[in-house]
Amino acid sequence: MNETKDRYGKVVIVSGPSGVGKSTICKEVAGRLNNVYISVSVTTRPRSQAEVDGRDYWFISENEFQRRIDKGELLEYAEVFGHLYGTPKDKVEEALQDARTVILEIDVQGAKKVKRIYQDAVMIFVFPPSQRELAERMKLRGRENGQSAEERLEGASGEMAAAWQYYKHMVINEDLQQAVNEMVEIIQGLQ
Ligand code: 5GP
Repeated sequence: MNETKDRYGKVVIVSGPSGVGKSTICKEVAGRLNNVYISVSVTTRPRSQAEVDGRDYWFISENEFQRRIDKGELLEYAEVFGHLYGTPKDKVEEALQDARTVILEIDVQGAKKVKRIYQDAVMIFVFPPSQRELAERMKLRGRENGQSAEERLEGASGEMAAAWQYYKHMVINEDLQQAVNEMVEIIQGLQ
């Protein structure tokens, strides 16, 4: 499984700490470019009030998640803050066959797995302007899913350290439009 054929789409991996604004940036990018598919992951994490099943994630039980692993239905999966997250394989493959650009918003563990499968996947890491800003955004976001902002901040430090090693592209989300422009340029550069 390697997308060297011309008509094949490209995989773009977007990682970054929780609360950094990955989803907002990716949605804007998808609105600016043609033919972009943003993958919707499955997760065992509880849904927060603001989230919609099938739009933000597919919220499924641990049994259902395990069933999908057993059936080979996930392109990759990882445990993040005590919950499982995975990328549905069929939708990604379908979009690639249709020559679409597929954006995967996934953590560093998942990104490494995807990079082994799709070797020319592009890896973009989104940084907050500062640790302090990230802490503020996490508090504002106030998820009711059991993970504390402290826990997420700790995880964020580890991910940001790994980013320097694995990610070719870095985008700082200080100004949303600038971050969107940078990501659009990176993706356009792939064509
Ligand atoms: P959140 O709970 O804040 O939505 O996501 C927590 C973390 O899980 C984020 O780093 C996010 O990128 C990651 N994540 C979301 N979906 C997936 C997925 O399908 N696979 C992997 N490996 N990580 C994911």
